[in-house]
Amino acid sequence: MSEEKTASVQFEDENNEEQVSTDINPQEINENPEKYARQMAESRATEYDQMAGFSVPRDFVMIPSKGRVYPPTSALHNVEEVEVRHLTAADEDILTSRALLRSGKAMDTMLANVIMNKQIRVEELISGDKNALLTFLRITGYGPEYPVEIDCPACDENVKHDFDLSQLKMKFLDVDPVQEGENRFNFLLPSGIEIEFKLLNSAEDAKITEEQEKARRATNSPIDKVVTTRYKTQIISVDGKDDQIFINNFVNTMNLRDSRAFRTYLDEIDPDVIMKQDFKCPMCGHGEEVEIPITVGFFWPES
Ligand SMILES: [Zn+2]
Repeated sequence: MSEEKTASVQFEDENNEEQVSTDINPQEINENPEKYARQMAESRATEYDQMAGFSVPRDFVMIPSKGRVYPPTSALHNVEEVEVRHLTAADEDILTSRALLRSGKAMDTMLANVIMNKQIRVEELISGDKNALLTFLRITGYGPEYPVEIDCPACDENVKHDFDLSQLKMKFLDVDPVQEGENRFNFLLPSGIEIEFKLLNSAEDAKITEEQEKARRATNSPIDKVVTTRYKTQIISVDGKDDQIFINNFVNTMNLRDSRAFRTYLDEIDPDVIMKQDFKCPMCGHGEEVEIPITVGFFWPES
């Protein structure tokens, strides 16, 4: 069972600045110099925060993993919300920088800039957590309306549809990792084999996509090795054996029933923004819930 909540990707502007009293009573300075020093330090820190942020609004964004897959050494360990500032014109420069776009680093560079806690490493974010931050930034930066052209599943007509990103829901992690603070989960396959797997981070996701592209170009094969490439990265042990060659062999010969069961389980527990919404076709009137396609328009709206 997966837990769904609205409001998580609904982002209200909040004023997070804490009020620090700077009213100091001279008598109090003598009585409590430590308190005075602390108040001064706090007030300077607040001033500095405001200067550094140039009053760009900030918000806390809930992440679907609730920080439960990050080790105690990580700045994301058990962190349920990540503080980010909203996008500025300078961030837009990053998002449209050709050099960064070519290297695929535009999104990560932008994220590293807007995440307030600089101890957080963007590469370690699992994909679902990253999607939550990106969706938040898209909504606050460009608004929740997301116009995309899609093919109607019924009449196959290519139609324009406005999705409303503010209505997206988030699926939170609600199974326990094998160990607290470890990105490691177990699953018993229908064949009786027990596997352990991890949730992929965006760097691993990008690497898989890259390998798939390479394989496609090299072999010119129409068969995508999407599933096996992904499993070889995602599965970290098979019946307790964590040798990569053993895992690769296992994946190559994994039966269809095991593969399906694993994929279904992954879909069920993988914490992420649920990128699905109702669609109604203006041509034939057909309505159904569809996957929201992520196109360049997500961060580079045309108008
Ligand atoms: Zn239609």
